[in-house]
Amino acid sequence: MLDQTPKEISERKALRINPCKTCQPVGALYAALGVRRCMPHSHGSQGCVSYHRTFLTRHFKEPAIASSSSFTEGASVFGGGANLKQSVRNIFDVYDPDIIAVHTTCLSETIGDDLNAYIMELEIPEEKQVVHCNTPSYVGSHINGYANMVAGFIRYLADKRAPKSELVGVFPGFVNPGDIRELKRLLDLMAVPHIMLPDTTGVMDGPMTGKYEMFPDGGTTIEEIRALGGARHALALGSFASTEPALALKTKCAVESTVLPLPMGVRLTDSFLLTLSALSGKPVPKELEEERGRLIDLMLDANPYYYDKTCAVFGDPDTVLGITSLALELGMTPKYVLTGTPGEAFVTKAMGMLEADGKAEGARVKAAGDLFELHQWIKNGPVDLLIGTSYGKQIAKAEDLPFVRAGFPILDRYGHSYHPLVGYQGALLLAERIADAVMDRMDRDCADEDLEVVM
Ligand code: SF4
Repeated sequence: MLDQTPKEISERKALRINPCKTCQPVGALYAALGVRRCMPHSHGSQGCVSYHRTFLTRHFKEPAIASSSSFTEGASVFGGGANLKQSVRNIFDVYDPDIIAVHTTCLSETIGDDLNAYIMELEIPEEKQVVHCNTPSYVGSHINGYANMVAGFIRYLADKRAPKSELVGVFPGFVNPGDIRELKRLLDLMAVPHIMLPDTTGVMDGPMTGKYEMFPDGGTTIEEIRALGGARHALALGSFASTEPALALKTKCAVESTVLPLPMGVRLTDSFLLTLSALSGKPVPKELEEERGRLIDLMLDANPYYYDKTCAVFGDPDTVLGITSLALELGMTPKYVLTGTPGEAFVTKAMGMLEADGKAEGARVKAAGDLFELHQWIKNGPVDLLIGTSYGKQIAKAEDLPFVRAGFPILDRYGHSYHPLVGYQGALLLAERIADAVMDRMDRDCADEDLEVVM
């Protein structure tokens, strides 16, 4: 399918081919699904929200609910205030959520709809909430949309008069429910009482009960978001997805925060746990030390299959930085590291990791890049392995590369969103997948007489 991708690279400024990101509202919608009894609402035309819902449903294999202001030509010319008013009334009457989280779209942003003013004019039933954030999709990516929505919840709901508590606010970053479940387990083991915002466990990985629940039993409650205002500290995991919520909490409620990378691989998980240990004043429990030990054991056992292998890593910035860190720990050389989300900090961080491990020479790192360019890099200098989202499968096929799926979205496989990539457990899973891909390739390519049962 991509066999015709040319090897010759030409500099492009105004064109993305095979983008490595999606639009802001997808991230905003996902964040809103992590708040209990929340209806995400797309302020724009029906086509947009239909795409956003489909995108999330295809990754999580779960229904992603959302409503729309259903713009037609009239709203596009005269503004969408009347549509929003009618929508909010209908949504509370028909679906009865506790909260509606409105995000904008390209259309409502372009015509300049003032959501602050619209929401102030709404008749909102008692005990119900309407919040909003701006998600213009012609800038940024779904990661920015996610960050904007989480910050939106804080700006509207976090209460600076909330009683001071021992709770730590945790912004988990743009990760799967499986990751959030694992983060909560680590926080519990480290005895750190916390409020996770958002929390998509139980919502986007709900069990099959035979009964459809529009609002599954999961998500951060409105009371918990209010209580964030009295938190003793906040942890923002993944600087691209979580810095903005942390800043919003600091601005509104003067809660200090620590921004950490997503805890993926050994070093970054160590640093996360040591931060938790400093917060709780308690040592890392034996159970986690043993998990770490098992991970190191696997890394040593399978080392011959990792050592000196080159790889290309692509996807969302925080996730890609975490995978790059793990790949370096495994002894691999991440030759190409790319995200579609803009932000030169990504280049600085990724290059810093490669330099620290003496692997920067010949490496290419890019933010706001696309998969066409990644494919061209690979054509000019092949790698042993490709690691990233489902959109890499065409490159893997064209270049006959082993391919490990990790990140968002995974549209062509099942079960990914249940399993963590964070923590020692997540690293164990990813390290196993990487070794499997390399070893499967060896089995497939070797001569019959060299096919080993014991490896
Ligand atoms: S018009 Fe904008 S908001 Fe709507 S789907 Fe396209 S990029 Fe996303």
